[in-house]
Amino acid sequence: MEELMRVLIVEDNEDDAILLLRHLKKSGFDITHRIVQTREAMEKLLDGEPWDIIISDYNMPSFDGLAALKLVTDKGLDIPFIVISGAIGEESAVELLHAGAADFIKKGNWARLVPAIRRELREARHRRERAQAREDKFEAEARYTALFENAVEGIFQSTPDGRFLAVNPAMARILGYTEPETVMAEFTNINEQLYTNPHRREELMRQLQEHGSVAGFEAQVFRRDNSIIWISIHARAVFTKDGAIEYMEGMFEDITTRKNAEDMLYQNAFYDQLTGLPNRALLTDRLRRVLEGAKRQPDTKYALLFLDLDQFKNVNDSLGHQAGDELLLAVGNKLKKCLRAMDTVARFGGDEFALLLEDLQDYKMALKVTRRIQSELTTPQIIQNREVYSSASIGIVLGTKPFESADAVLRAADVAMYQAKRQGRNRFKVFNHRMGRKAARQLELETSLRQAINHEQFEVHYQPIIEVISSRIVGVEALVRWRRPEVGLVLPRDFIPLCEETGLINFLGHWVLVTACAQTKVWQSIPNHKDLFVCVNISGTQIQQPGLVEQVQWAFEDAELDPNLLKLEITESVLMSNAQKAVNMLAKLKTLGVCLAIDDFGTGYSSLAYLNRFPVDTLKIDRSFVSRMGHDDDDKIVQAVISLAETMGMDAVAEGVEQLDQLEKLTAMHCAFAQGFYFSRPLPPSELELFLKHGLPAHPTTSD
Ligand code: C2E
Ligand code: MG
Ligand code: MG
Repeated sequence: MEELMRVLIVEDNEDDAILLLRHLKKSGFDITHRIVQTREAMEKLLDGEPWDIIISDYNMPSFDGLAALKLVTDKGLDIPFIVISGAIGEESAVELLHAGAADFIKKGNWARLVPAIRRELREARHRRERAQAREDKFEAEARYTALFENAVEGIFQSTPDGRFLAVNPAMARILGYTEPETVMAEFTNINEQLYTNPHRREELMRQLQEHGSVAGFEAQVFRRDNSIIWISIHARAVFTKDGAIEYMEGMFEDITTRKNAEDMLYQNAFYDQLTGLPNRALLTDRLRRVLEGAKRQPDTKYALLFLDLDQFKNVNDSLGHQAGDELLLAVGNKLKKCLRAMDTVARFGGDEFALLLEDLQDYKMALKVTRRIQSELTTPQIIQNREVYSSASIGIVLGTKPFESADAVLRAADVAMYQAKRQGRNRFKVFNHRMGRKAARQLELETSLRQAINHEQFEVHYQPIIEVISSRIVGVEALVRWRRPEVGLVLPRDFIPLCEETGLINFLGHWVLVTACAQTKVWQSIPNHKDLFVCVNISGTQIQQPGLVEQVQWAFEDAELDPNLLKLEITESVLMSNAQKAVNMLAKLKTLGVCLAIDDFGTGYSSLAYLNRFPVDTLKIDRSFVSRMGHDDDDKIVQAVISLAETMGMDAVAEGVEQLDQLEKLTAMHCAFAQGFYFSRPLPPSELELFLKHGLPAHPTTSD
């Protein structure tokens, strides 16, 4: 089946037209048609519809073939125009063909007409296609030009030797130029003039040579005003026949905003916001890499220093957070000064810093750095017009043994730091593996101790103090116990030292003081006990605390206890190791009206000459002497202490009386007071209360 053919027939003779149509249909054409006889009718149809072919009679009364043809060409229509006619002169025929007729056929020569129509239709189609292609091409070019001109991305072509062949306005704009032409003119060496690091362009060229194209190649480039931006390049290379890059072309995008955002995120994730130093995550990452390196090269020497400022809290509390922040900044800067560029100083948060020293020549370097840090830190820092002194406790891990992970190294450093801190301020300690286990236990203990305070796991037990001549209970000693879950009752020797090291003793001691005063006040209402006194042990750490005086005062005032009936016990060794400070503190306490006792007397090897400098009321003879009584020499010592106390106007209390014969000897030596298992063990308040109410049993049991 032929395609549909739209035929416009120009013919005044209807019979001829019908004949023509019939013949065309017979030849297989599928036709729609119109027949016109006048110029007006033809013009209307030409304007109104598309036509595939026009077949026109030559001679018509009012209109002729030539005029019809002119009408078509005047309208710029490209429709094949075939003239059919009877007799026509050669001249007219030539004229017709000149005017643009496609063919000229004699009436009745159907054999020529059909092929002519077919040919003309085909050629017309080809002409149309060619025109369309031309138009498409033109449009495409226009589109590309528009793209090139209006794109937001920079588009360029450049040569390997560093010139631009083409640059679009966006590219010029991105680089800070108004005209692409200026860019093309100014750049004669792109490597040097554009890239902040010329090697980046060399790298770009290398990748293009190797892969033919690059995508998302990032680099930093100069703008005209010398500011620097980040760009991303998508480009391909065009090669010469012998495989060299002839030129490259591609797109160029300003990604500075994105890069800055990425930088900020990176900063946030890996840097400390206050000091700008690397944070824990970054240091851990670097440490991990060092550890991996050390696995491959076992002679790699590195060290990790873990540093905690001493008493940073004091600065924060007394001068405010602003000052605290300033100090941390200053410390960060000082630490940086002590290190080489390749080392890392990180802030771990709070007042903790970590330093990673890589590629050490030898381990002595680490200790040298540590000392440098210590001396650097102890030079005072002016903060808010004050001189602030800082020091740090430093734990050091040397990479002498393989560690399984960065975390293990950090833990070890923490343990060593912790041990350093225990020994006082401004110390350092090198980690060893024994330390690990011991410290782990201590750490566990400390954690549970802290919880113990919050969970009220402490109890005060009381041991009666007996007036020897009357066998009456005249006082009690408050002794703290820790009811530790899953362990049971823990005695002071197992937790007081740790409390002292960690400072927890200040809370605990205060609590014991308050509890004991309140309890004693209650007991004083039991008949015959209105003068019951209470002894509370005060540790060496508490003596150093300026707040102790207030704590003591509040305790007895709160309980409405007569301060005379509160006796503070301080061990001899504490007094002696800090004689001057202790004298001052005791004097202050004394003005409150409380009594003071020297505990464990005889164990501190104190110069007796010191004794009268302390405003002390009582000497408690250490249990070790009492327990050895029976030997002549020991008897003499106890006797000497009792006499000494007497001459200095002090009471003597014998501690640790366990047996009747000890009591008898003490009685003979005129020891005024005694305390010990012979009378009673330290007891919970409810049990002691029974003794207060009913007196001690005649033959006390020794069970606890
Ligand atoms: P301390 O002040 O010399 O207390 C006397 C210790 O001797 C108590 O031990 C007591 O149970 C024990 N004791 C009493 N009589 C006898 C006896 O006949 N034989 C023997 N073998 N021991 C006897 P505890 O309660 O274990 O306390 C030990 C030390 O812990 C106390 O020695 C004191 O220095 C300290 N401590 C106890 N409670 C506190 C407290 O609340 N604060 C402070 N800072 N230290 C406390
Ligand atoms: Mg005591
Ligand atoms: Mg004692």
